[in-house]
Amino acid sequence: TTSVSSDSADVDALRIEGIHKAFGSFVALKSIDLAIHPGELVCFLGPSGCGKTTLLRIIAGLESQTAGRVIQNGRDVSNAPPAARDYGIVFQSYALFPNLTIKDNVAYGLVNRRRDRAAIDARVAELLTLVGLPTEGPKYPGQLSGGQQQRIALARALATAPSLLLLDEPLSALDAKERDRLRGEIRQLQRRLKVTTIMVTHDQEEALSMADRVVVMNHGAIEQIGTPLEVYERPATPFVADFLGKVNVLKATCVGSGRYRVGSREIATGANGMATGDAVRLYLRPEDRILADSGPVETMPNALSGIVRNVDFLGTYCLASLDVDGFDGQRMLVYFSLNQTLELGVREGARVAFALRPERVRVFAA
Ligand code: ATP
Repeated sequence: TTSVSSDSADVDALRIEGIHKAFGSFVALKSIDLAIHPGELVCFLGPSGCGKTTLLRIIAGLESQTAGRVIQNGRDVSNAPPAARDYGIVFQSYALFPNLTIKDNVAYGLVNRRRDRAAIDARVAELLTLVGLPTEGPKYPGQLSGGQQQRIALARALATAPSLLLLDEPLSALDAKERDRLRGEIRQLQRRLKVTTIMVTHDQEEALSMADRVVVMNHGAIEQIGTPLEVYERPATPFVADFLGKVNVLKATCVGSGRYRVGSREIATGANGMATGDAVRLYLRPEDRILADSGPVETMPNALSGIVRNVDFLGTYCLASLDVDGFDGQRMLVYFSLNQTLELGVREGARVAFALRPERVRVFAA
């Protein structure tokens, strides 16, 4: 029997089932499965060439999948042309019509639907206000900054009130300040409108700061799906640990349950599935340390000491490269706030004591 749910809240806004994409003999996507909930902002994050844009284009119907299904609000749109799917899209390049005014750019999708002129004008005014550019309607795209053009592209994508918003690296052509500002604006707007949104990005900071859930992709496959905190704190694979943020990778050998030897030192971690004798890699973020400014660290588990070999000053914090006693030359990057840097005298040649947080050490097979 087939059961049809009458409660639309149960229906995923978008379901991707077994999507596979080959370009000739090159496989760009391998059996991708994904469910996106109504009102969610999901980021596809991954390095160049991992297939995130191809996946977005398949969802939009701008590219056809080799196999698999795309289901939007319970409707199978796998073979529907773009115009028969319900979404708005914003591309990296502003892609506004240069010979049309801002107003006509935003009205474009509405005019195609043959709404009456007064209704269109009212909707355009509403959209321009929504993106913070209420008076720019008579201008042409060339008269606006990149950030303003991208706001207009967003207004145009939202004009028909689509149930899905697709954003393909919408911020990557902008300078850092403008990117930051628009990041916040898009997020606020998305929350306010509760429009299900997929954003493609290769910028981890962008994904972590904007997404409800991040889909981390590599080589045409999904490595992990999780909230920003989950993928950052509990990476499922070495790739995810490496791709998100900075990480120290230490060669180690398992010497008992949750115990590992690095050089001649033993490091305790939470229990995990490794067996004594296994060659592993310990993944540790520079911030997963306890420093002497919060009390004596010498008596703590995983107490270590090292000589500072290099300090990278990065504004509000420093990353120091430490030659850790007993680590046989495996260096560690350790994070210090600016205050800690000054109070603990972190500079080249100085000795620094610290301890590693056992619960933060991630262990992967070598
Ligand atoms: P980027 O951030 O660089 O755009 P991406 O993760 O979005 O990377 P895609 O654009 O999806 O990657 O491309 C995935 C892979 O598929 C790449 O190796 C790319 O070269 C290949 N590819 C994409 N489009 C085609 C095509 N039309 N013909 C052949 N190969 C393609």
